[in-house]
Amino acid sequence: AQNRYASLRGLPATGSCGTTIQLYMNAGLMADLPSLEGSGAEGVGLFRTELQFLIRNHVPRRGELADLYRHVLDRAMGKPVMFRTLDIGSDKVLPYMKPQDEPNPAMGWRAIRVGLDKRGVLRMQLQALIRASVGRPLHVMFPFIADIGEYEAAHRILMQELSREQRMGHPMPSDIRVGAMLETPSLAFAPRKFFEMCDFISIGGNDLKQFFFAADRENERVRRRYDTMNSSFLSLLRQIVSRCDEARVPLSFCGEDAGRPIEALTFAALGIRRLSMRPASIGPVKHLIRRVSITELRGVIDEAQDFGLTNLRRPVTEWLARQ
Ligand code: PEP
Ligand code: MG
Repeated sequence: AQNRYASLRGLPATGSCGTTIQLYMNAGLMADLPSLEGSGAEGVGLFRTELQFLIRNHVPRRGELADLYRHVLDRAMGKPVMFRTLDIGSDKVLPYMKPQDEPNPAMGWRAIRVGLDKRGVLRMQLQALIRASVGRPLHVMFPFIADIGEYEAAHRILMQELSREQRMGHPMPSDIRVGAMLETPSLAFAPRKFFEMCDFISIGGNDLKQFFFAADRENERVRRRYDTMNSSFLSLLRQIVSRCDEARVPLSFCGEDAGRPIEALTFAALGIRRLSMRPASIGPVKHLIRRVSITELRGVIDEAQDFGLTNLRRPVTEWLARQ
C-alpha cells in the first residue's frame, strides 16, 4: 500500500483550496526511523521516549540515552523531531519501577506528574536531549500537562538544565522549542499566559477524548460509544484552535485519529494545520487532502454544527463521496 502513494512522497498535502497541512509521523523506537524517508513525513511529530525505557530492564544512563537521541536526530537528517519526555505510569509500567497500586492509573501518578515528583529522572532525560542536540534544534514536549503550573515547573527545569550545560562550557543546541501536549480538557481553558509560553502545542487526542467523554481508551465496551466526530468534541477542538490562534502558537494533533481519513480532514477543516500519525497513514491522508477543498469542508462542518447535528460523520462522509 505504501507503494501506491510513493509518487506523492515529495509532494505537499495541499488541498484544492490552497491550504497546506503538514504531515508528521509518530515514532518511539530506532526501528521506526527508516519510515521517515519512506513515508515522506516532514518530521517526527511525536517521539514517545518511554518506549526506550520500557524495553530495558534498568533505567538507562544519561550517556546511553544521549547516544540514542543523537542517533535519532542523525537518522532524521535535519527534519524536526518532537521528543516527548517520559510518559510512564497508567498502562505503561516500567519493569524496574515499583508498581503503584492505584485504583485509576490513567488518572493517577503518570507522565509529567512523575517527572515533577522524581525530578532526577526528568533532569537526566533533559540533559541527554540537550547533549544529543548540540548544534541543531531541540524540540521538547511535556506530556499530560493539566494546568499551567505544571508546564511552568517543567519549563523551568529545562531552562535550569540548559544554563547548567552552558555554565559547564558545553556546546548548546542551535535552537530550543518547548511545547506541551494538550490531553486533558482542563488545559483548553488554561490562562492565556500558558498558550503564550508554548512554542508549540500538540493535542494528544487519545487521552483528550478519553477524559472528555470519561470513557477508558483501553475499554472496548465504553470506548466505542463515543465518536471523535461527535459535535461536542469538535467544539472542544474549535476552542483549542482559537486559543492557539489567539496566542499565535502552532498547533498539531498527534493521537490515532490524525491517521483516519474522515477525522484528519475534519481536523484540517477546523484549523489544525499539522497532523502526526503512524507512517503508513501519511500516504492515504495526503492523497485525500490533495483531492478536496479544506475550505469547502469547513463550510459543511460549520453549517452542520449550526444546524445542531450531534454527530458530523455522516455529513462529512457524504460530502467526501461527492468529491
Ligand atoms: C495521546 O494521548 O493521544 C497521545 C498521542 O499519547 P499516547 O497515545 O502515547 O498517550
Ligand atoms: Mg497521551
